[in-house]
Amino acid sequence: MGLVVQKYGGSSVADAEGIKRVAKRIVEAKQNGNQVVAVVSAMGDTTDELIDLAEQVSPMPAGRELDMLLTAGERISMALLAMAIKKLGHEAQSFTGSQAGVITDSVHNKARIIDVTPGRIKTSVDEGNIAIVAGFQGVSQDTKDITTLGRGGSDTTAVALAAALDADVCEIYTDVDGVFTADPRVVKKARKIDWISFEDMLELAASGSKVLLHRCVEYARRYNIPIHVRSSFSGLQGTWVSSEPIKQGDKQVEQALISGVAHDTSEAKVTVVGVPDKPGEAASIFRTIADAEINIDMVVQNVSAASTGLTDISFTLPKTEGRKAIDALEKNKAGIGFDSLRYDDQIGKISLVGAGMKTNPGVTADFFTALSDAGVNIELISTSEIRISVVTRADDVPEAVRAVHSAFGLDSDSDEAVVYGGTGR
Ligand code: ADP
Ligand code: ASP
Ligand code: MG
Repeated sequence: MGLVVQKYGGSSVADAEGIKRVAKRIVEAKQNGNQVVAVVSAMGDTTDELIDLAEQVSPMPAGRELDMLLTAGERISMALLAMAIKKLGHEAQSFTGSQAGVITDSVHNKARIIDVTPGRIKTSVDEGNIAIVAGFQGVSQDTKDITTLGRGGSDTTAVALAAALDADVCEIYTDVDGVFTADPRVVKKARKIDWISFEDMLELAASGSKVLLHRCVEYARRYNIPIHVRSSFSGLQGTWVSSEPIKQGDKQVEQALISGVAHDTSEAKVTVVGVPDKPGEAASIFRTIADAEINIDMVVQNVSAASTGLTDISFTLPKTEGRKAIDALEKNKAGIGFDSLRYDDQIGKISLVGAGMKTNPGVTADFFTALSDAGVNIELISTSEIRISVVTRADDVPEAVRAVHSAFGLDSDSDEAVVYGGTGR
């Protein structure tokens, strides 16, 4: 008998009908002879709605209390799902993250999993139950407080449980048929990818393809857990994310030169204006940001003007951390010694990802040409071995993504990319 961990995202359990549909699917997996653990997200846009509610009460809610509030979302869906499964005549038990043994550090709102002790889940499935686990939540080892894993964190819960339970596969069910060469909400001609390596998926996820969370892919790579991303609305095969290419029939699926185009409009840009061009300045700016527990993405420093000896340093960070970053820098203004700060949240990032760019000269030039042909101005550039990213105006992002997707021959012949549900929020 195999053990399968399945994860159902918010759009798959958006209403009572969705919960009943998912319950049937879980029961089918059980009837196929598997032990089943199902990780579930909050219904529809519940998490966003709870955040909006908290902000109406307090603009900067305390992390501990926000976590307490947000975990309620997953508790609702796990209990309803267990009820729906019982209604179908099968035994199910729901568990919170803490009951499931998801142990984290104590950083509220973006805790990291440090251990998983799924004793109760193991016992439950061994007794013949389907175990339903609330995604996105855990309990801090030190403070014993309830934590959340950051937005989209149910993906990580699923992979972490799959690793701890030594599952055969981790299936991530969502509202599209798999991982596509671009977000199907933006590119109708996006193509479904049959297999993608952990490395390329990591870069896509880190660059904003929210179909899988970056941390979840990191975890899967570390423990070598194959992920199957597929739709909970169709019976189609989805995308396999694993270290080795899968076989289709007796043919090995080949590694694509370019895996896809990702975009992200969730970041903002901070420019520190008039920084003295001397050793230690960048260190003190980014020490200030790190001490505020803010993760940054790109960094660019201009050449200093000879007449003033001053330079500007720009960096990008999640919009949700913008206020905190500005406050921290302002507080340290005298210590760092800059003139002023500029904050711009109307930016977007477009990234091209593919292991093939390591060996194919000209990819960067073709990428910039596609953007220029689409009339898109580039503000920042960053590259890794298998990724090129640029920052542009947020309004330019959809057009730029489509232009780059076409320029690299990624368009499918048909409009095959179906979006079954969700609001894209
Ligand atoms: P869930 O609620 O199931 O966790 P998410 O909204 O987090 O779903 O992720 C699924 C969404 O990810 C899709 O609806 C799609 O708009 C978006 N997405 C972004 N990039 C991609 C991509 N490359 N392939 C597939 N989906 C993508
Ligand atoms: N409900 C949480 C969110 O919306 C976690 C998840 O869906 O993965 O971010
Ligand atoms: Mg998600």
